[in-house]
Amino acid sequence: MKQNFDNNSFRDFEYIAGMDAWARAKLFQAYLDDQTLKHQLNYRLQVDSGCGPVISMNGQRLISLVSNDYLGFTQHPAVIKAAVDGINKYGTGAGASPAIGGHYDYIEQLEKAIAKFFRKEHAIIYTTGYTSNSASLQAILTRDDLVIMDSGVHTSVMEGCQCFNRKTVKHNDLNAYEHVLKMAGKKHPLVLVIIDGVYSQDGDLAPLREIIGLCKKYGAKLMVDDAHGTGVIGKTGRGLIEVCDAWNDVDLITGTFSKTFGHIGGYVVGSKEMVNYLKYQSKQHLFSASLSPAALSIVKAIELIDEEPLWMSVLKDNCKYFRHGLQQLGLNIGNTQSAIFPVRVGDKIKNAKICYALQQKGVYANQINYPAVSMKDARIRMGITARHSKAQMDEVLNIWSDIKREFSL
Ligand code: PMP
Repeated sequence: MKQNFDNNSFRDFEYIAGMDAWARAKLFQAYLDDQTLKHQLNYRLQVDSGCGPVISMNGQRLISLVSNDYLGFTQHPAVIKAAVDGINKYGTGAGASPAIGGHYDYIEQLEKAIAKFFRKEHAIIYTTGYTSNSASLQAILTRDDLVIMDSGVHTSVMEGCQCFNRKTVKHNDLNAYEHVLKMAGKKHPLVLVIIDGVYSQDGDLAPLREIIGLCKKYGAKLMVDDAHGTGVIGKTGRGLIEVCDAWNDVDLITGTFSKTFGHIGGYVVGSKEMVNYLKYQSKQHLFSASLSPAALSIVKAIELIDEEPLWMSVLKDNCKYFRHGLQQLGLNIGNTQSAIFPVRVGDKIKNAKICYALQQKGVYANQINYPAVSMKDARIRMGITARHSKAQMDEVLNIWSDIKREFSL
């Protein structure tokens, strides 16, 4: 008899008592086949055009709301030229890890550019945004320390902390933060609070000023991952730290080059001592090959944020327009204040059906389910960029109007 997997999630296959990895993989394959057949998964859909507001999938034209290319820099001629020039000058790869031959002047240039962007002197580059969190935390934390993290932080943070003492705090709940900080007392050499600037699934902001106040009161250090705030909020795109003018109150800033900066890679910005410590102690940095010379495109993208402020202002206008449109339709988009728009659906199966219906009608959005969000909080996640036109946003809103009726939202 065929098994019904509708109540399962990926996480259910991570451990099953008495089953080895190959047996679990076999069961997982049955789950994938079942859910794919029912259109309840839309992961790893194959796109056959570049990243942009309109994409092609098996020849179907879709308005894409799945990229984090907020300013559209993946397609900016000057950004593309910088990548091509980098490859022409240096070739396609770094050939080695930074410790043993893979540290180049273009990496140094990138470190300086991103540190300066965040008004600091020092930055370390990782090959993904993911490792800029997971790897730096593994080098920073010891088993005596305590991490206090918001329940909305990215998996990469959770992975970096998984072998250490950690407390997860209800999203943006200041009383919960204070309670855990108070309980931590003085027994840990380091208490590290980790938050996002803009949260990746809700699109809302952290109460940064208040959290800084609590960290000061209880002697904790603060790390902020502003992957989704950079290039999106703040007068000059420096994210939530700029909004709150908190330049001297955040100990570590982490982020990624894969969103606003249109490439791949990540960074940790901080004090000279801490950044140098990571450069020699963080194994995934030391012993993993450096970014390719195409990363010179990131240096150009960093410059363009200041040189072409137009893209940020178009993005802000677009977000305002789209938020208003979704609200007019009466859809529940929570408290988003960024370019991320989550339409709350609740039930996972209904969410999957909506996602598939959107796709059939020409809109490519993401379905977000457990474990990315809690079990009953499934939602359709959409991202707006500076390259979406009003006509494209109207097309999406019209389709949502039909979806709302069809699915009684
Ligand atoms: N932090 C946050 C908040 C993210 O949303 C992501 C990416 N989804 C990452 C870190 C990891 O970045 P990357 O995909 O560039 O590795």
